[in-house]
Amino acid sequence: MSIESHYDVVVAGAGIVGASVAWHLATAGARVAVVDAVGPAAAASGASDGAVSVASKKPGPLAHLASASLLYTRKLSAEGILAGAFHARPSFVFGQGEAELAALDALVSKLRTISGPVHVTRDGPATGLACLGPGVERLVTLDGEGHMPGHKAVRAYLSAPGITPIWPAPIQGFDIDDGGVTVLLGDRRLRAGHLVAALGTATKDLFPMLPIIPRAGQLFVTDRGAPGVLPGSLTAAAYLVAKTEAPDVLPLPPVVIDPLTTGQFLMGSSRENHAIR
Ligand SMILES: Cc1cc2nc3c(=O)[nH]c(=O)nc-3n(C[C@H](O)[C@H](O)[C@H](O)COP(=O)(O)OP(=O)(O)OC[C@H]3O[C@@H](n4cnc5c(N)ncnc54)[C@H](O)[C@@H]3O)c2cc1C
Repeated sequence: MSIESHYDVVVAGAGIVGASVAWHLATAGARVAVVDAVGPAAAASGASDGAVSVASKKPGPLAHLASASLLYTRKLSAEGILAGAFHARPSFVFGQGEAELAALDALVSKLRTISGPVHVTRDGPATGLACLGPGVERLVTLDGEGHMPGHKAVRAYLSAPGITPIWPAPIQGFDIDDGGVTVLLGDRRLRAGHLVAALGTATKDLFPMLPIIPRAGQLFVTDRGAPGVLPGSLTAAAYLVAKTEAPDVLPLPPVVIDPLTTGQFLMGSSRENHAIR
């Protein structure tokens, strides 16, 4: 079996992580191949809500990283590469009952400790959003977050010159030696100086020693609704509670609603950890 091509880097996986890494490497002058078993954004990146959120992240390093990442995404959007993919929009987090109101208190104090683009612009009774029912006790409105459908970001990143797309091509294994790495694609082989593994939850198939726990989720997309009903993402504070508590103590379902530019609403998503894909 002959070596088909030589690259500086082979990026395994054309999700948002692989596509972003490939764009940064190609922009720096590297010769990059991106290999995917199916095609771009075929897995989690194509199915996600697309919220670019700081509010939903646990306080501490994750929230600080999310804030830095949001700033960087806004910069790439302003510079053009993500201009058609990312857009800024307000976020609304609502709550009722003791656990949700405590989660909103924690959200507001968390955002005070993070320097970055996300700010509370209003915190009070749930007025101004017609879609919220009368039982809702408190609404926190945030400015600075955004929305970026994963498939749009992946397409934008992969448009860089210097990236060779290779799919459908499931990677079956790799051999590392002193000179680099040989990537095995069934009856083809690629040679590269470096291999970047960005296979999402499937990374565990090639690197079984990694502590990756696959997670499943479901979401659905509605038909087009009336324009302007919801100007930004709407999240139940139960979603924040779910980040710190077991799912069975949730006060209410952790609903998240993302209005899409098409006028549709993306609603979801459930999350469940499981060890078998
Ligand atoms: C329902 C849901 C909603 C979400 N909502 C959000 C959200 O609103 N905001 C947010 O920030 N995050 C969200 N996430 C998380 C986010 O989508 C993921 O963290 C992110 O997309 C992971 O990207 P990735 O590139 O690591 O993996 P993936 O997108 O899973 O990409 C991995 C790629 O590797 C390929 N691959 C796998 N095995 C092989 C192989 N052997 N050979 C070659 N290629 C292979 C796959 O085909 C796939 O294209 C959500 C996730 C889910 C499931």
